Amino acid sequence: RAKEAGRGKHLRYAPAMHADAEERRTLEIALREALGKNELHLLYQPIVTADTGEVVGFEALVRWTHPELGPISPVKFIPLAEDTRLIASIGNWVLRTACQEAAQWPDDVRVSVNVSAEQLYEAEFLETVVSALAHSRLPAERLELEVTEGVFLREGTGVSQLLDKLMKLGVRLSLDDFGTGYSSLGYLSRSRFSTIKIDRSFVSGAARNQRESLAIIHAVVAMAQSLEMETTAEGVETEAEHDIIRALGCTKIQGFYFGRPMPAADALGLFIDPNSQVA
Ligand code: C2E
Ligand code: MG
Ligand code: MG
Ligand code: MG
Repeated sequence: RAKEAGRGKHLRYAPAMHADAEERRTLEIALREALGKNELHLLYQPIVTADTGEVVGFEALVRWTHPELGPISPVKFIPLAEDTRLIASIGNWVLRTACQEAAQWPDDVRVSVNVSAEQLYEAEFLETVVSALAHSRLPAERLELEVTEGVFLREGTGVSQLLDKLMKLGVRLSLDDFGTGYSSLGYLSRSRFSTIKIDRSFVSGAARNQRESLAIIHAVVAMAQSLEMETTAEGVETEAEHDIIRALGCTKIQGFYFGRPMPAADALGLFIDPNSQVA
């Protein structure tokens, strides 16, 4: 792009580019200290069965509250952490914290933890998982790691072997944001995923009766069934979305319709106080 723009003239350095770089630099410095300053915490969003609405797990979602800038979205700071290798320490903290908090839930409730490709490529990732499980005493079967198709893009990283080792520990794997990235059905055969998470864009498309979204969900559900995998519909916000997702045969549902990401104490409260409700 810069090449095209620069054809016949010099590439101009726009002030906006400078501001972006400046902001990134500021955030990077702050992010380096965020862990030590206790500025990170996790929220937990319920995942329920499509047929009965029973809570079968929670997805851990990291939050960063900067003392002056306020809340900063993971959509912004996770990529920054990936670029600067801070993802290893942040990811390690997320994993340990999620396992510890989940160990207090009933023993049939799982926790799902997002793992970046950059994190998987770190040599000590497997040890990190083993140690998080050991410290928390959370059974491996109750931990689900969410990866995206992006993890398979880089050759020679041994990702498939690593995922196999994790599976042998008893950890479950899910394929996140399915359909949004560099989707290839081949990835589904590279590792034994327990669950395919269908991206929110298809869920809302299906509820708007969009043919492509309906066809894709239909196909993914059929394929998951024959491969004995579950399907989680992400980002279900309305009753209409809930209805169509159920009709299409997804086995699990996650979204604001059932519950927003909530603090650990509230998640735990759902099990302790029978009168409290999800959503
Ligand atoms: P994701 O793993 O696909 O997580 C689902 C995102 O959808 C979350 O956004 C969640 O709050 C949001 N969501 C759930 N239900 C609804 C809904 O009904 N409507 C709408 N509009 N959104 C819904 P969040 O928490 O902002 O996280 C964004 C992304 O950041 C995550 O996408 C994940 O890729 C990444 N992320 C979050 N926490 C972590 C983490 O601990 N480690 C890593 N590596 N990535 C993380
Ligand atoms: Mg996820
Ligand atoms: Mg997702
Ligand atoms: Mg997503």
